[in-house]
Amino acid sequence: MTIRYPFSAVVGHDDLKLALLLNAVSPAVGGVLVRGEKGTAKSTVVRSLAALLPRVPVVAGCRFSCDPAAPDPSCPDGPHESGLSPQTRPARLVELPVGASEDRVAGSLDLERALTEGVKAFEPGLLAAAHRGVLYVDEVNLLHDHLVDLLLDAAAMGVAHVEREGVSVRHAARFLLVGTMNPEEGELRPQLLDRFGLAVEVRASRDPAERAEVVRRRLAFDADPAGFTAAYAGGERDLARRIAAARERLPGVALPDAALRGITAVCAAFDVEGMRADLVMARTAVALAAWEGRDEVTSGDVRTAARLALPHRRRRDPFDDPLDDRGHGLDEERLEQALSEADDGPHDDGPDDGPGGGGGSGGGDPTDAPPGEGGGTGGQAPASPTAPYRTRLLAPEAVGRGGPAGRRGRTTGESGRTVGARPPAGRLRRLNLPATLAAAAPHQRGRGRSGSGLVLRREDLREAVREGRESNLVLFCVDASGSMAARARMRAVKGAVLSLLLDAYQRRDKVGLVTFRGEEATVALPPTSSVELASDRLARLATGGRTPLAAGLRRAERVLAAERLRDPRRRPLLVVVTDGRHTAGPDPVVTARRLAGVASVVVDCEHGPVRLGLAGRLAAALGGTPIRLEELAADHLAAVVRDVRRVA
Ligand SMILES: [Zn+2]
Repeated sequence: MTIRYPFSAVVGHDDLKLALLLNAVSPAVGGVLVRGEKGTAKSTVVRSLAALLPRVPVVAGCRFSCDPAAPDPSCPDGPHESGLSPQTRPARLVELPVGASEDRVAGSLDLERALTEGVKAFEPGLLAAAHRGVLYVDEVNLLHDHLVDLLLDAAAMGVAHVEREGVSVRHAARFLLVGTMNPEEGELRPQLLDRFGLAVEVRASRDPAERAEVVRRRLAFDADPAGFTAAYAGGERDLARRIAAARERLPGVALPDAALRGITAVCAAFDVEGMRADLVMARTAVALAAWEGRDEVTSGDVRTAARLALPHRRRRDPFDDPLDDRGHGLDEERLEQALSEADDGPHDDGPDDGPGGGGGSGGGDPTDAPPGEGGGTGGQAPASPTAPYRTRLLAPEAVGRGGPAGRRGRTTGESGRTVGARPPAGRLRRLNLPATLAAAAPHQRGRGRSGSGLVLRREDLREAVREGRESNLVLFCVDASGSMAARARMRAVKGAVLSLLLDAYQRRDKVGLVTFRGEEATVALPPTSSVELASDRLARLATGGRTPLAAGLRRAERVLAAERLRDPRRRPLLVVVTDGRHTAGPDPVVTARRLAGVASVVVDCEHGPVRLGLAGRLAAALGGTPIRLEELAADHLAAVVRDVRRVA
């Protein structure tokens, strides 16, 4: 068994520790999302929480951790007799690996045994293991879409549900969800973001003395884990006792009207979506009061709750950074203003339809004006993109084989609609019942069938062949040279690329950006899942100079080669945005032919009365699809592309 670093030995990280402790006191707070760069010991702190949690009473022998006081009526190991002597086990922290299979997470129903041996065989998954404990997802932003959906469903219902061809199993799955992520590697889907009660930004301390202490303790732990842990046993015991005491105190904590008014005023001032933020803030404030041994929520509790519960909930568009640059991601001035207005509120206008109306204080509501954003494009700054629009779907033409789940290219794999059947290569995963029955039918007499039951053998089993959508790497190769640099034109080009980026964000693709101008090509953005980063680089992209188109393509070729090693399952789509002219370096057509194996699209930016059609020639050399810039919008009536070559 590995010895974990003690929670009480963690230096700094006060908000993170507090957020975890408040969830330990009140799981209703709804979990924690921890954001921060690599090397900030996020995972260490999260993993150390389990040791502090009270032991869990369970029904002996139940693989689904039923509570003896209230066993789950749908428990697959049930029904349990009442009045069994309960036993307790330590609270679990279950880690969900980002690449886990659906079976591993939700549990697997062994249809093969069910059909051929007539037994109902359900193997519990990680959701069952995490019931009444902590479910921890490291790199939660990289979690596959279908796992995200599983997680969202379980988190919303408190129930895990497995269904295979009409046979279904359900069991309770209530857990504290904790995720860690490095925002540089991509953002979280908004629905999942909202699932986390609290969000904390973690960064390494800037204080040399504190950093020294971190290193000192880490070295001591690594040298002698058992001895180090023993030295902190007292601190761990104290924290565990304090959690247990706070849990007992929790139901009696009062939330005074003034505090509730503060909560709703703050949520209104920060323009959060829905009511979940208000609820989470209230629960957090109550848990905080219990944790501090008080019986009533104070305005200080509300302030802290806002800091932990709001940063990831403000309304925003997908290109905004969910957290501001400041440490806590919350505008403290605005928070104080909202709280003081809430204090004054009832004396001034005292409407009895409640404080939730937010804007009821009359007047012009100056906080509504969006913070300066749109104005900064004048002068010599790079051309800003035009407003993004919905683009048509650009995708590889061929059907892929088992790429990562996504919403772009077509692929065979574990999910999607059934397009055929075949004998299973290994263990049966997705039964195709009609095909199985069809395979068994001719042998019934030969197998001596006499009654009504079908005689099934293993060789009859057929699994479904499915076709779904995959996530791709969309690599943009953008011409930023002088021929493209007429300001209005560049705005349109940037707007187009921005729109395609937005599309990639919604489809959960990886994106990369290569640009070329003057004498060289540069990788403006190596392949990443962070579309925010890409759009930021794009907005700041300088333009002008000669056109080294071949250099751009060669650069793209190298990026694709490196990605093929790093992420071999993900198919690339190369999107070249250019007018096709080249005024520096070798002939691009030669380079383009080397890229002919890669699915590609050339967005033709040529304009003006005289057209040379160079981009079309480039597309032909690439073996790709040409599309005019003006035809990129989804609502543009251009059937041409679909006629020439089916893109979507
Ligand atoms: Zn049970």
